[in-house]
Amino acid sequence: MGCTGGGLDLMRSQDAEGVMVMAIDDGFDVNGGHQVIMATMREYIQRLEKAELHVHLEGSIEPGTLLEIAPSLSREEVMARYEYATFGEFLKNFGWVARHLSEPEHYAIATRRLLERMEEQNVRYAEITLSAGVIRWKGQDAGAVHQAVREAAKGSAVRVQWIWDAVRQWGVERAWEAMELAAARGGDGVIAFGWGGDAANGPAREFAGVLGEARARGLRLVCHAGEVTNAASVWEALEIGAERIGHGIRAVEDGGLVRELVERGVPLEVCVSSNVRTGAVGSMAEHPLRKLFDAGVAVVLNSDDPPMFHTTLGREYEIAAEEFGFDEEELAELAENGFRYAFD
Ligand SMILES: [Zn+2]
Repeated sequence: MGCTGGGLDLMRSQDAEGVMVMAIDDGFDVNGGHQVIMATMREYIQRLEKAELHVHLEGSIEPGTLLEIAPSLSREEVMARYEYATFGEFLKNFGWVARHLSEPEHYAIATRRLLERMEEQNVRYAEITLSAGVIRWKGQDAGAVHQAVREAAKGSAVRVQWIWDAVRQWGVERAWEAMELAAARGGDGVIAFGWGGDAANGPAREFAGVLGEARARGLRLVCHAGEVTNAASVWEALEIGAERIGHGIRAVEDGGLVRELVERGVPLEVCVSSNVRTGAVGSMAEHPLRKLFDAGVAVVLNSDDPPMFHTTLGREYEIAAEEFGFDEEELAELAENGFRYAFD
């Protein structure tokens, strides 16, 4: 949080019905002034209609929900998985959480909870990524999982589409299997095929064949790149047809690539807290969100794995305002990008 200069200046008063209400003091002192601005900004962010394009269902599971899904686990062992020192350790923890989704109903619970959180934040549209690779690896019935999550999303105020993805470090053969699972549900809620995981151990070029087939079968394409790997991995992702880049922040190291992204209108799904927590950037101050935005790159803000990164989508907008000085107009542009670059 950027607000540290003491508590908000609140006044107590009675409204017409005599109910005690709290109001923010208009008094504008040096420290309080910033806080009043941020309180107003938070309200503005809350009211903004938002879209979430980069969120992993398995990574959206809160500790309490995981305990409900897997009651044999202790709170301590669950909480320990939401802390990690490196990107590799984070991936392991993500896999550990995903492994506990042993029934289609567990995926349904996760979906309902995620959508409840989104509704609270005025998220109106979401493309939720589900790891087809992990479902395949667990030997689960993909059709049953698909039906469970589709059913769970019915009636939500959030319009939902699904991205099924492959785990790139597991190799090309398994990626083909994951793609088959995704393509079988194209036109039935699954709009895109993605690949995530450890980019350093699954160079994008190896996946060109799978990706080409996914596209031929009507799926849109999204790829994690330029997160912990360098700008060259973003070039590779573009080369094999990625239409959006998950993270892509290290594109900032290559001026030619930045121009290419701007000219082609390829958006970056930027997840600031994720990048700070996994160590993809050294610190918040080093994050290139502002640089990329100012260079004209289409940026969409996302939460990635919200409880694992101790964030929410709304919080990511607050970070843009507090840490990178985004004003209301710029925040509105980020929110609009969420709808503009949707695959829907
Ligand atoms: Zn991700």
